[in-house]
Amino acid sequence: MAGICAKTPAMIPFTGNPLNRLSEKRAEESFIAEKLHAGDSLVLPFFQTMPLIDGDPPAPFFLPPGQCGLTGSDLTVFLGMREGRAVFALDIGEDAARAEWLTGFGKFLDLRSAAPLLPLPDLTIASQGKGLLEWHARSKFCGRCGAPTSSHDGGNKRVCSRCGVEDFPRTDPAVIMLATHGEHCLLGRNVKWTPDFLSTLAGFVEPGESLEEAVARELHEEAGVIATSVRYFASQPWPFPAALMLGFFAEVESKALTLDPAEIAEALWFTKDEARALLAGTMPGRRGPSTAAIANFLIRAWAKK
Ligand SMILES: [Zn+2]
Repeated sequence: MAGICAKTPAMIPFTGNPLNRLSEKRAEESFIAEKLHAGDSLVLPFFQTMPLIDGDPPAPFFLPPGQCGLTGSDLTVFLGMREGRAVFALDIGEDAARAEWLTGFGKFLDLRSAAPLLPLPDLTIASQGKGLLEWHARSKFCGRCGAPTSSHDGGNKRVCSRCGVEDFPRTDPAVIMLATHGEHCLLGRNVKWTPDFLSTLAGFVEPGESLEEAVARELHEEAGVIATSVRYFASQPWPFPAALMLGFFAEVESKALTLDPAEIAEALWFTKDEARALLAGTMPGRRGPSTAAIANFLIRAWAKK
């Protein structure tokens, strides 16, 4: 059965998941157990949140369950069905001996660094697995009573052993916006970034705030500009560790800047020609966001001729 295709523009990395998540079957323990032992199922192992990757060009390396050395205490997460085959993520945690053995099949690589090299559907599956496994790693204890929790529904839910509260995988919304003023756009450098790197501004949505309000607040806090219109562009799951990037264009009322020195080291207005040069890597001493990031797509969409 084919997956449900998202209508995200321009094939943004980490979107376009080909899996049918089959959420109605997750709670069926017999279904999950059968698939976890089926010879045609596919398992993507993760070591220290890094997926196993191999090949030329590189791609996530899926193994049949029988070749993963699965034990009863392994954390496995059912990700969905791909062309009739169940797909799982396996967390081998800090088990260096097992990681060493699995490197007979490939290498464990940082997903963020490897992202631009990987085929989109497989990258998206790997990011789904990474996001879920990181959620498990951060959710071992109940947020209400502090008792240990355990994995249920094929790894798509955790339940507290004492008070029974259910916890579900979370995604943290973050707005990322290209501020524009007429024929110029604003790119900034966070104080944590290398001196040559510039990108769009961004920030997490706060409780009690709409997306448009978050865009306006972040622009005002970080750059001192006032948004006069906010227009949605597209979204991108960003599993580092659990964000959903919501991309916007925001027209602002003037180019006068007041930077927040705790967050923004510098910010500059770019023409469309300059923005294209930044993305093309032809601006001396400067580089822009990678093709794996929605910021690249925001700038490219605005600056296109
Ligand atoms: Zn509890």
